[in-house]
Amino acid sequence: MASQLARTAFSIAALLLGAAQPAAAAIRVVATLPDVADMARQIGGDRIEVTTIATGAQDPHKVPVKPSFVTKLNRADALIVQGLGLEHAFLPALLEVASNPKILPTGPAYIDASVYIEPLDVPSSQNRAQGELHPLGNPHFNLDPVRGKQMVRAIAEGLARVDPEGAAAYRDGAARYTALLDEKIAGWQQLAAPLRGVKAVSYHEDLVYLADRYGIELVGTIETKPGVPATASHLAELVDTMKRDGATLVIREVAYEMPLAQTVAERSGARVVTIATLTGGLPDATTYATFIEANLQALLRALQSGTDG
Ligand SMILES: [Zn+2]
Repeated sequence: MASQLARTAFSIAALLLGAAQPAAAAIRVVATLPDVADMARQIGGDRIEVTTIATGAQDPHKVPVKPSFVTKLNRADALIVQGLGLEHAFLPALLEVASNPKILPTGPAYIDASVYIEPLDVPSSQNRAQGELHPLGNPHFNLDPVRGKQMVRAIAEGLARVDPEGAAAYRDGAARYTALLDEKIAGWQQLAAPLRGVKAVSYHEDLVYLADRYGIELVGTIETKPGVPATASHLAELVDTMKRDGATLVIREVAYEMPLAQTVAERSGARVVTIATLTGGLPDATTYATFIEANLQALLRALQSGTDG
């Protein structure tokens, strides 16, 4: 009786499992951040099943660690990271307890989207100053879609390494997605023309690649340096610099507080504009391409109307 019951329960469970997994065992991919997650989906389609650790509205340097992440990492066939230390606040601790050697940085299923990126802002000395969050160079390269294509390449190659049977599919997926990005990049370049030469400050030092792409001139940050909060004297200096250089925008990243950005804007005569530093950080910008576009539109609206949109 008991064993029959167990058998019945077992077959029901098997049926449910079967129903939940229609495709032939998709590759289980964990992505640390929404940008690499969307890129992986664009490349891998139905071959992969992607779960993401952080949301686009979070500060990637301060993602709270949850036990559910450990379970996901433990069962993962592959891990995709943006890299250059961006996930340093949460990933090493999670990997330590996830008991999945193949997705450790030394493992075959660790896919690092930064391998083709030439980092900007690499510290000249190797001393990791207190509170310094960018010891390997600036890790926020996802804000530039041209560098985004280098991320796509690294992810596609990584997926092919983990799942060699799908190599052709990943190559095709990456080629299709890169062609789509190329088309959009050409449009964005024209769209962003009014941003060239605009002087701005950001809250955190995360806009260097965006600025590099579209010719925005960054004159400072509200933080004294990455991860180190503003001091009164730093803010006074920043406001002086902004006035002297004619900075017109305070670009506030969605994960950072508004009031301080507002104060800096008021004292310097600039305007605040909110943008995202990750896919999904702004409403409706849930894919990498819509995220890039939403940021540019927000910046342009702020330039044209003088409001935060
Ligand atoms: Zn940062």
